[in-house]
Amino acid sequence: MREHLVHIDGERRPSASGRTLEATDPYTGEVLGTIPDCDAADVADAIAAARAAFDGGWRTTPGIERARLLHVLADAIDAHAEEIGAIETRDNGKLLTETVGQARFAARNYRFFAGYADKLYGRTIPLDRPGMLDYTLREPVGVAALITAWNSPMQLLANKLAPALAAGCTVVVKPSEHASLSTLRLAELVDEVGFPPGVVNVVTGAAECGRALSGSTAVDTVSFTGSVGTGAAIAQTCAANHVPVTLELGGKSPNIVFEDADVDRALAGALAGIFSAGGQTCIAGSRILVQDSVHDELVERLARRASRIRLGDPRDPGTQMGPVANEPQRDRILGAIEAGRSSGARDLSAEQPAADLPDKGLFVRPTVFADVDNSSPLAREEIFGPVASVIRFRDEAEAIALANDSEFGLASGIWTTDLSRAHRVAARLVAGTVWVNTYRASAAQAPFGGVRRSGHGRERGEEALDEYLRVKNVMVDLSADYHDSFEETGAGDE
Ligand code: NAD
Repeated sequence: MREHLVHIDGERRPSASGRTLEATDPYTGEVLGTIPDCDAADVADAIAAARAAFDGGWRTTPGIERARLLHVLADAIDAHAEEIGAIETRDNGKLLTETVGQARFAARNYRFFAGYADKLYGRTIPLDRPGMLDYTLREPVGVAALITAWNSPMQLLANKLAPALAAGCTVVVKPSEHASLSTLRLAELVDEVGFPPGVVNVVTGAAECGRALSGSTAVDTVSFTGSVGTGAAIAQTCAANHVPVTLELGGKSPNIVFEDADVDRALAGALAGIFSAGGQTCIAGSRILVQDSVHDELVERLARRASRIRLGDPRDPGTQMGPVANEPQRDRILGAIEAGRSSGARDLSAEQPAADLPDKGLFVRPTVFADVDNSSPLAREEIFGPVASVIRFRDEAEAIALANDSEFGLASGIWTTDLSRAHRVAARLVAGTVWVNTYRASAAQAPFGGVRRSGHGRERGEEALDEYLRVKNVMVDLSADYHDSFEETGAGDE
């Protein structure tokens, strides 16, 4: 059993207290090793190392050098994608094909942001005052605290780490206690490819560690991916500390199938939207809105296909759905299914021949509820598991109203062959992402994030850089004489 260590200032070490947590494989139940259970003392050391690295040179390292390091890191991730995927699959039970794919996707993120590292241009701004030069500088904010969830550690981290490093920030990373191992492996690669000590520090632990990091007044920005409740608590602390925060939280995303859709394609998209990764994705299309005339056919096929999803070893390429990542999550999902059954919604999966569950692992059967009331918990609360709630609608106006009647606003899908309708509805949906005739597609270049309780701020795309840069305005009097702004305008600046 391996004793994993955290990375602070280029060194590997246990937690200051010596406490550890166990990392377990949700398929085999095997204990994979231990991770340090860090507390405020470790976090303070990591922040101090990040601050020293920032002030000591990373902030002024030429962008082209930061770009080079990001490119070699991307190469190293690509070269180790199979290994990283295997580590992650053992840690969180996600399909190996998906974790390897996510490692490669993460590498693309580092490459994409590498391209920006030496192109962080400001603007020159023509003023209505003669003899004055005005320009902006875009400067790194400083030390960034990056906290991630367990479902996609490499990808979630790349969304934050790549723009942060490109911007010239140094970081302290805290992955989820339920899946820290791939992040610790990444920290080794960061050291191996030559990032200066202290630029990337990784601490591990649970809520106590996360609270110490996000609640520190010594960090300059916090970027958090996780649940709505934790996000709200972090936002409150950050507000009190006047520290900016980016929140990537949950969702209850509508996947809308119109009667003019290519129904086969919509069916495949609806299935993948909710059952990929066992529904343990923030973007899960967990509310499937279906128009009257295609409703019964689609729902019946959806339930049949869901019942045939092959559950099993996440390392087996024939497996379509692995186990749920951890026990508390499995229990929460089963509780939501029970509550759904007694809410009046129809559990179509119960009407299908039940496939045997694998004899080990934390499995939950893919479940499809029909006749779901959009005001019921099945339609309002994020389950983060393989549970689809199907809701019927009459026309476009009702589809939009139902889709937007949610506290969340992360993602959404539209299935239609009517081009005008696609753009019309896309413009009306309250969501950070709209997919048309596809679902779950993502790209390093395309901004991602939520509105309402799904969070705020953007990751990926050029917009992500803004979370790690601040704008400084420089105003220069070019005239030979001093201009007194009081005399000229009668008012100074605020
Ligand atoms: P979580 O909120 O329990 O934990 C997330 C991280 O925060 C972990 O690292 C955890 O240790 C840490 N943490 C816990 N309590 C903390 C506290 N009080 N202060 C600071 N840090 C704390 O979430 P989870 O169960 O790991 O992840 C599932 C959630 O993440 C779901 O709601 C899902 O929708 C969301 N998620 C969102 C996105 C997105 O990009 N929008 C992506 C993936 C997951």
